[in-house]
Amino acid sequence: MEKIAIVGGGISGLSVAQMLKEKYEIKVFEGASRPGGLIKCERIDGNLYHTTGGHVFNTKRSDVLEWFWSFFDKEKEFTLAKRNASIFLQENKFIPYPIENNFHLLSESLISKIIKDLLKINKSEKITPLNFKEFLKQQFGETLFDIYFKPYNEKIWQCDLAKIPLSWLEGKLPMPTVEEIFTSNITKAEENKFVHSSFYYPQEEGSQFLIDRLTLNLDIHCNHKVESIERIGLKWQINRELFDRVIFCGNIKQLPAILNKGINISRFSEEIDSLEYHGTTTVLCEVEKNPYSWVYLPDSKIRPHRIICTGNFSKSNNAVGKMSATIEFTDFISEEEIIKNLELLPFSPKYLLHHYEQFTYPIQHSSTREMVNLLKTDLEKDNFYLLGRFAEWEYYNMDAAIGAAIDLTSNF
Ligand SMILES: Cc1cc2nc3c(=O)[nH]c(=O)nc-3n(C[C@H](O)[C@H](O)[C@H](O)COP(=O)(O)OP(=O)(O)OC[C@H]3O[C@@H](n4cnc5c(N)ncnc54)[C@H](O)[C@@H]3O)c2cc1C
Repeated sequence: MEKIAIVGGGISGLSVAQMLKEKYEIKVFEGASRPGGLIKCERIDGNLYHTTGGHVFNTKRSDVLEWFWSFFDKEKEFTLAKRNASIFLQENKFIPYPIENNFHLLSESLISKIIKDLLKINKSEKITPLNFKEFLKQQFGETLFDIYFKPYNEKIWQCDLAKIPLSWLEGKLPMPTVEEIFTSNITKAEENKFVHSSFYYPQEEGSQFLIDRLTLNLDIHCNHKVESIERIGLKWQINRELFDRVIFCGNIKQLPAILNKGINISRFSEEIDSLEYHGTTTVLCEVEKNPYSWVYLPDSKIRPHRIICTGNFSKSNNAVGKMSATIEFTDFISEEEIIKNLELLPFSPKYLLHHYEQFTYPIQHSSTREMVNLLKTDLEKDNFYLLGRFAEWEYYNMDAAIGAAIDLTSNF
């Protein structure tokens, strides 16, 4: 049997290992003390803590869904929840998500400005937007851009939205026509066209449940951060062991240092080094009971951008008689600042714990995808593959990571 090393035991590494384990001898190397990467959870005072975000699963890809349900029992182990997302605006107003379908709930003066914007958009000639900022303005008009899209997205990306290329967000952006926006506001249609309008969630243990199942029957070596991979003849050597192929599911930024013997990728080093990213501070809180799954926080005076009411995803996520949530801040934030900000939020959050994860949002520039693809093509000639959110520097959700693993292994 050919031997394959998988570096990184997040959802990408575990999924690809499961896909290949019947045909190949697989060894997974994981740097942390337990696998799971960004989707790990732990119990704190009886509450389930998603240490980064609050992961839910859904997908548009039927092959991903089919593969997923071959591991889990949809009826017995999961619930299909309806998304009830809301936007918290000034004056303590909750506007159902997405805002463009619900602008009729705003003040009269805002409604009239938004109508003028939309009529203008409807009349004007369509020009292909060059970046995220142009896209949002062309799609929704100046007023919705100013009160929601700009402040919310600037909090997440911490940059001028004109610097974000559209290619990166392909397939992830809402594209309603002006007619559809007006219709939704008049008929008060519920949010149902979005891929995220419903989602699957494990009845017990949240995304940790996915990891626990996907690690079964795999040879995983935790506390084993791979720091060097050497090309020897037609094989790859990790820790004095030879492999026929390597699937790298770690972070592309480590590659120039790791691939330092028998192979030369130095011409990519500068561009890899310049790749930008954001981290996330995820705060576990107990909150007042509320009906929401997510609450978006565009207000620029409040630093966090989202409350994820994980306690509403499954009752078992809460300590007895409590309701828990995670609150996300972009990048690092001190405990003192966290506590000051919690006072500005709805549902009186009570701080329990926080965790800062350095790499959460890869940022692509217009040349990033081309550079990564060139590197991938070069390495694949030698049976070395890049897979996952940070190895490919793609804005993947779990389903896209699984989809990328399906695509990769279809050639094995
Ligand atoms: C705030 C937030 C919320 C999100 N919410 C959702 C959601 O609701 N639904 C959804 O589908 N997706 C969501 N995502 C996206 C999802 O988290 C990712 O798509 C997915 O976790 C990426 O998995 P991965 O295996 O590619 O990377 P990671 O999870 O980062 O895994 C990489 C693994 O490799 C290990 N590693 C790295 N380098 C080495 C090395 N040199 N040697 C050994 N091991 C190494 C790391 O320790 C880690 O375990 C969210 C992401 C964020 C940031």
